[in-house]
Amino acid sequence: MNCVVCHHTVSHGLTGWHSQCPHCRYEAATLRVSINVPQAHASIDEEAREASLKALRQANFAEIVDHARTYAPPGGRRLLDVGSAHGWFLEAAAPAFDAIGIEPDAEVGSKAAQRGFQVRQGYFPDALRSDETFDVIVFNDVIEHIPDIGSALRACHDRLNPGGILILNLPNSRGFFYRLSKLLVRLRIAGPFERMWQKSLPSPHLHYFDNQNLTRLLAGLGFSLVFQRELPALRAQGLKERLGYVGNPNPLVLWGQYVVIRCLIPVLRLFPSDIIVGIYRREG
Ligand SMILES: [Zn+2]
Repeated sequence: MNCVVCHHTVSHGLTGWHSQCPHCRYEAATLRVSINVPQAHASIDEEAREASLKALRQANFAEIVDHARTYAPPGGRRLLDVGSAHGWFLEAAAPAFDAIGIEPDAEVGSKAAQRGFQVRQGYFPDALRSDETFDVIVFNDVIEHIPDIGSALRACHDRLNPGGILILNLPNSRGFFYRLSKLLVRLRIAGPFERMWQKSLPSPHLHYFDNQNLTRLLAGLGFSLVFQRELPALRAQGLKERLGYVGNPNPLVLWGQYVVIRCLIPVLRLFPSDIIVGIYRREG
C-alpha cells in the first residue's frame, strides 16, 4: 500500500491492521466499514456514546463556526456539513450560514431532519445535485473515516466556490492520548489503541494525520492553509457524563476519576491535543 500523502510505500504498523509511512508519518488502518448494516446499531450503544461527547463537541463546534465566519469568502453563506449526524454543527452554524448536512446513516439523519435541519441522506458528493456549490465545506470527525480520501477532497475542490474554504476537524496523530495508546500497544495493552481507531465501531478510523502531513496532502490537491490549531480533547464541561459512559457504575470511583482528570486538564494542555482543526482555501 502507498501513502496517500507522499506516495511512498507504507511500513507495517503496531498491529496487523495498522500501517505507517516512514517518510511523512501518515498512518492508516485496514479496518472494515459496516455503516447501515442492521446489526451495526444493535452492536453498540451509539446514542449513549454520542451523548457522552455532546458537551465537548458543542463547545468545539461553536469555536469552529467562529473561524468559519472569519475565513469564509465575503458574503459567502452557503455551508455544507458532511456527516452531519445529530445536527449539532448545523445548529451551531444556523445563525451565520445557510447550512445543509449530508448523513449516510438514515436513522440518525432523519432524526436531525425532524428537528428542522436540512439533511440529505447519502454520501458526499453523490447526495448533492450536480450544480450545487458552497462557500464552506466542513468535515467534523468524518474525513478520517472515508476510504478514498483523495476522491473526497477532490470533490470538495469541485464543490467549493472560488475562495471557498474547507474545514477539517479530526484526530491528531501527535496528540497526547494517541501517543500514549501507541506506547501501551507496544507493551501489549491494545485496548486504548483500538479505541482511538474506533476498531469495534461500524465506521472505524482509517487515517491518522498530523498538521504537517495533512497540509501537504491538501496542498497537492489545490488547497492552501489559512488557519490551523488544536482544539481541546477534554473539557471540564460534560466530563462526568463522559466518564459515566466509559462505564464505572460505582459512584465513588466515578467521582474519584472525575476529580483526578479535572485536575489534570490544565497539565494536559501543555501537551499536543488529540484534536486538530485546519482551514484550507480553494486555489484557482
Ligand atoms: Zn507518506
